[in-house]
Amino acid sequence: MEGESRPGLPARRRALLSEQRSRRGPTGDPQCARLPAPFGPYGARAPSAPGRARVPWKTFVHPKGADAPMSAEVKLVDNAGVRIATPGAVVYVDAFHSLGDADARTQAVTKDGRADLILVTHAHGDHFAPRLVVEAAERTGATIVGPRSVAERLQGRLPDNRLCEMEPPAAPPGAQALSVSREFPVGRVTAYRTFHSRDHTSYLVELDGFRFFHDGDNEDTRRLDAGALGRLDVLLIGPWLGGGWVEFIEKLAPRRYVLIHLDEGEHRRHDEGKYLPELCDHVPAGLTVLRPGEALYLD
Ligand SMILES: [Zn+2]
Ligand SMILES: [Zn+2]
Repeated sequence: MEGESRPGLPARRRALLSEQRSRRGPTGDPQCARLPAPFGPYGARAPSAPGRARVPWKTFVHPKGADAPMSAEVKLVDNAGVRIATPGAVVYVDAFHSLGDADARTQAVTKDGRADLILVTHAHGDHFAPRLVVEAAERTGATIVGPRSVAERLQGRLPDNRLCEMEPPAAPPGAQALSVSREFPVGRVTAYRTFHSRDHTSYLVELDGFRFFHDGDNEDTRRLDAGALGRLDVLLIGPWLGGGWVEFIEKLAPRRYVLIHLDEGEHRRHDEGKYLPELCDHVPAGLTVLRPGEALYLD
């Protein structure tokens, strides 16, 4: 809607919007079908501001060298699913979902039997499959954290003390996302009620001195207080059209950020050097693009 009617919108961006809309629609990701978000500020901004260096946007996975000290690992499971590991904790976010070969993937990623927390951002099928979350929790002994719509679908299928509902109040229209925090034995989790489904949640996860933020399917990063989020080691974020994500990353300046929720076609275009230049006029420093099964390591 907004895209087509906006005068002066570059043809390629218009085409991409329509392509993404159809992909997120009935054929690709029906549960995550979303209205096209309005373009973020970069859509209307002059191309790179004078004096701003263009940052090389193609970056690489850091393989774990034999002598490289490793204190934290962030592995992409698939879609928006990740496994975060620090010396004292293993935390999954949105890792047990129904896309692809879900049963085989669940068994493979939990085969070491380790998980302290399993966080779920929202109840859409490409982020949350209740049966698989229960299976992963049984295999690992993890506690499940999610908003009410997630907790309700797990009630009675796991012991009550392993199910933790975290649902902050909804923000008034136009106001910043509200949050709630909780201390777990392995670290602190802060849930932000962000903007996608009725009770969509983004998570700040603090483990062993590392700070990770998983933005899920949040469609409006302008309503997150970057200053309050503070220093981040890794930001996990979907480069949805609109939503102010470029500026959000620049304000946060995380050590690394990882693009989540990319499909194979988007990965291919990224490999060809095309994907992000089609979405934004510059790419903040710190980008890492992971394929499923790949990880980045932090010391
Ligand atoms: Zn999604
Ligand atoms: Zn969704």
